[in-house]
Amino acid sequence: MAAIKTPQPVTGPLPLLESLGELRGALNHCRRCELWRHATQGVPGEGPPHARLMLVGEQPGDAEDVAGHPFVGPAGAMLDRGLDEAGIERSSVFVSNAVKHFKFEQRGKRRLHAKPSIAEIKACNVWLLEELRLVQPQLVIALGASAARGVLGRAVTISATRGRAIPLPQGPHAWITIHPSFLLRIEDEAQRHTEYQRFVRELAQADSWARGAGRP
Ligand code: SF4
Repeated sequence: MAAIKTPQPVTGPLPLLESLGELRGALNHCRRCELWRHATQGVPGEGPPHARLMLVGEQPGDAEDVAGHPFVGPAGAMLDRGLDEAGIERSSVFVSNAVKHFKFEQRGKRRLHAKPSIAEIKACNVWLLEELRLVQPQLVIALGASAARGVLGRAVTISATRGRAIPLPQGPHAWITIHPSFLLRIEDEAQRHTEYQRFVRELAQADSWARGAGRP
């Protein structure tokens, strides 16, 4: 009887991956940082394999960690609403995160979001680059500062870089905007509305730019 192979932990360079399905399988063996220890599972990006737009958030949240799918919690609902108002079908875009395992602080029964460190974003970047290689989007929309760091490989200020195409060494361009969870944290209704309208406008502008750049 043939021996059953145990998958090797991924600690260094990634094995050669041929598909997004293979990436999903490999992700749960990643040991490139410590975040896998307490998370339920790795959450890879999802969407059409050759989507024109790739949207990148920070990391899975509580709901995403349990479901194993990106942007299915409250921030995901806000993103869906924004995409819809911007005239972009959620099913047409590839959605992912800069960090693939949920980082949190346990408070009683609640798991509170904790911001990933620069080292964790760097360690996880190989997976994001692999998704970029496999999907080859026209434009990568980075949602918030952690996503921007993962996509651009450097720290940037959202206010100074948002709303325009920035070339990436890997081929596609990046486009920076806010993370939808930022909108959920704004208490003042008028300010939230203003920020939301700007978010929708930037999503629509990004989509329009990507269409003009060649991918129908
Ligand atoms: S967060 Fe990223 S680098 Fe860290 S263990 Fe998970 S997949 Fe690997």
